[in-house]
Amino acid sequence: MSKIKGYCLTGTKRFHPGEAEAVEENSAIIEMTMPELKEGEILAETLYTALCGSDVSATLGKSNFDWIERPRVIGHETCARILKLGPGYKGTLKVGDLFVPVAQRGCQKDDCQGCRSGKWNLCPDKTILGYNRDGAFGQQMVLEADRVVPLIDGLKPEYGAIVEPVSVAVNAIYSKCNIKPGMDVLVTGCGIMGLISAELARANGARVAITGVEQDRNIRLKAARDRGITTIVVSPENPLLKQLEEGVKDADGRIFGTKGKVDLVIECSGVSSVLAEAIYAVKPEHDICTIATYPDKVMEDNTYITRQSLNIKGVMGSHKENFVVAQKLLLQGVFPAAHYINLYDFEHINDAFADSIKAQTTKAVVKMNG
Ligand SMILES: [Zn+2]
Ligand SMILES: [Zn+2]
Repeated sequence: MSKIKGYCLTGTKRFHPGEAEAVEENSAIIEMTMPELKEGEILAETLYTALCGSDVSATLGKSNFDWIERPRVIGHETCARILKLGPGYKGTLKVGDLFVPVAQRGCQKDDCQGCRSGKWNLCPDKTILGYNRDGAFGQQMVLEADRVVPLIDGLKPEYGAIVEPVSVAVNAIYSKCNIKPGMDVLVTGCGIMGLISAELARANGARVAITGVEQDRNIRLKAARDRGITTIVVSPENPLLKQLEEGVKDADGRIFGTKGKVDLVIECSGVSSVLAEAIYAVKPEHDICTIATYPDKVMEDNTYITRQSLNIKGVMGSHKENFVVAQKLLLQGVFPAAHYINLYDFEHINDAFADSIKAQTTKAVVKMNG
């Protein structure tokens, strides 16, 4: 029998975005022995696993991921097949079933408000697949059976791998952002969360612009531009607010926003200064929705927030219901997965990480087995 391998986070050395050496320094490909199944667990073969911005940040040694115990086989965005059910299993799952796991699993105690409402993502004691336990960058993984959301009929397993990030955007766009047709929505950051959010906002009838830096111009922003989304390259010489005030033009040559202000900002960059700046791009009484986490505290002009009556809304991950909606959106092509994903074989997983770190791919998805 061939050996089971996994991409394992090992180090915490700090690197900057773009420094692909981080992959060799902070991770290793290891051989795995799978633990015996406990009650409530299943063994699964991973089919396709996607690289999340968090996985890339952890590999770069960003401080907001210092809490992850090393060594750890990471990965939480995956489509997998059940190989074995744990002792005493009495549920409806069967060996051979394809599924996507929910990344965030709650404590399920009666007195937990998040868990009681079915929102494990809001549980203070939640565990995250690939961070609190070994995850989907192993060719096999052991996980709790109650994380399983069955793959819906007709959805390709490689698209199943991005159900999790789409579900987070679903949580943001449908639960938090009140997007109406005709709104001008600015998405800051063109990682996959930005790109998915931009697509879903547009599908809701908004006009959408997305920002990136020079390094994003030819791959990530191009992918958005090819879909008719307005793109803005920001730099210290050409900051966002100045460009908005001077008048960013959409694909039809019309000015985006009103006097430099938009109806909604969705912050996906995870860069503190971007969020601090974004508050000035929103009209009074409008929303800034943050999906990202930040390595340092964000200094905000709090008085400005008061005077403009702004709403800052956070979105933490997603829950099972969002996973079901996300799968439908992928199946219906509301988010056109084929346009955004790049496939890599497991032997080239280091390249998948290096390319993601260098922003040379929109969304890297790894074919985990043969
Ligand atoms: Zn993720
Ligand atoms: Zn809980």
